[in-house]
Order: sequence, then C-alpha cells, then structure tokens
Amino acid sequence: MRSATERREQLKEVYGRALGCTACPLHQTRTTVVFGAGNADADLMFIGEGPGANEDKQGVPFVGRAGKLLDTLLEEIGLDRASVFIANVVKCRPPGNRDPHPEEIESCHPFLRAQVELIEPKVICTLGNFSTKLLRGDPTGISRLHGQDEVQTIGARAIRLLPLFHPAAALYTPSSLQTLRDDFARIPALLAAPPLPQPHLADEQPDSPQSQPEVEPETDEAIEVASEQLGLF
Ligand code: SF4
Repeated sequence: MRSATERREQLKEVYGRALGCTACPLHQTRTTVVFGAGNADADLMFIGEGPGANEDKQGVPFVGRAGKLLDTLLEEIGLDRASVFIANVVKCRPPGNRDPHPEEIESCHPFLRAQVELIEPKVICTLGNFSTKLLRGDPTGISRLHGQDEVQTIGARAIRLLPLFHPAAALYTPSSLQTLRDDFARIPALLAAPPLPQPHLADEQPDSPQSQPEVEPETDEAIEVASEQLGLF
C-alpha cells in the first residue's frame, strides 16, 4: 500500500513520461498533453474520452461547459475537483474532436492503467462510451449500462465501476442531464460501501509505471512546472 506522498511522486514520474510521449500519431497535432488532474490519493476517479480544444490549450481535463457541469454535479454530492482525479482515455487531442482510433486508445492505455494502479481508487466513474467500453472490455454501450454499478478487476485491483453519460452529451439533452444527475446521486453510497476483497495475483504482476510506452522522460523541473500549472497533486 503506497502512502499519499509515494502515489504523488510516482504519478509525477508517469506524467513526465506522458509529456514526452510520441507513441501514437496524436502527438503530432497536440498542443499539450492532458495527463489528468486532481488528487493523487483520491477514492474516486472519473475517466472521460479525450481532450477537446480548450483542454488541449490549457492542459487540463474537463474545462469549458462540460467541465462546469461536472463541477456542479460534484458539488451536489458534496465533492469537488480537489477530492477526485479526472483523466481521459487518450491524453492528446484527436484533431477536430474526432473519436479516438482504437490504436490510439491502445497506445495510451498503459498511462491510464498506471494512473489507476497508482491512485488505487475505490470507485471509477466512466464518462461516456469510450472509457466504459475500454474498462469493461466489452462493446456494450453507455445507454444500456449507465447508473448500474459493477465490480471490475482493473490491473491488479477490484474496483467498483459506475458508467455514466458523458457530461458533454448531457448538455444537449435535458433528459440525459436528469439521468446523469440521478446516476451521480449513487456515487456517495458506492464510496461508503465496504472495501472490496482484492484478488490474489501471485502469478500476475500489475502494470507498473515502467510498462508505459518507451519515451524519454521530461526533466524533473519540467514536471514540477507542469504539475504546478495544472494544480495537480
Ligand atoms: Fe498522446 Fe497517449 Fe498517443 Fe502518447 S499514446 S501520443 S500520450 S495520446
């Protein structure tokens, strides 16, 4: 079990690798790597799809209207960004806000796995189809799954997974917004639920931060500057 400080330091290390990542074509068109933001010791993680134009400029996930909605929904259940960690399936913006391609998702997956492994959340809320399908390893869509929690083994850990509609989708459909709000209301009970028994993985080593794409890590100084800019950790 890592201490909060160890989590933070190891997450920064992963972040440094992501900053220099060229493992998929999205590195060619990105402005910044949107690694994720929030509390490295969080019990609750949100995982969205990928950075949009504003996120790409600012280097922070979920800014703009969808981000404001996420902030409001968090506030309604007594939480804020400082108490959760928010990340995306791909860390670099797909040009023109197109969907991320399967090979891009696959290339970026080690970063997401490392984030989950290091943060060790009790609950993960997937936002929309891409993260839901990736974490469940199943093509079932969000419309059928939203609001129904399940236990999933992700990396080395059993985690309560709660698929939710993406806030960007809820912005344009009032009925989806109410559904999202109702589904959000289930989060506090999941956080308060007893810890899950963890699988014994004697034969299987969890993904480690070393399992990310081979890239030259950024300097400590660059990581510190970026972390401060983003309000990370
Ligand atoms: Fe960016 Fe992820 Fe692709 Fe690396 S694998 S270039 S971090 S989207």
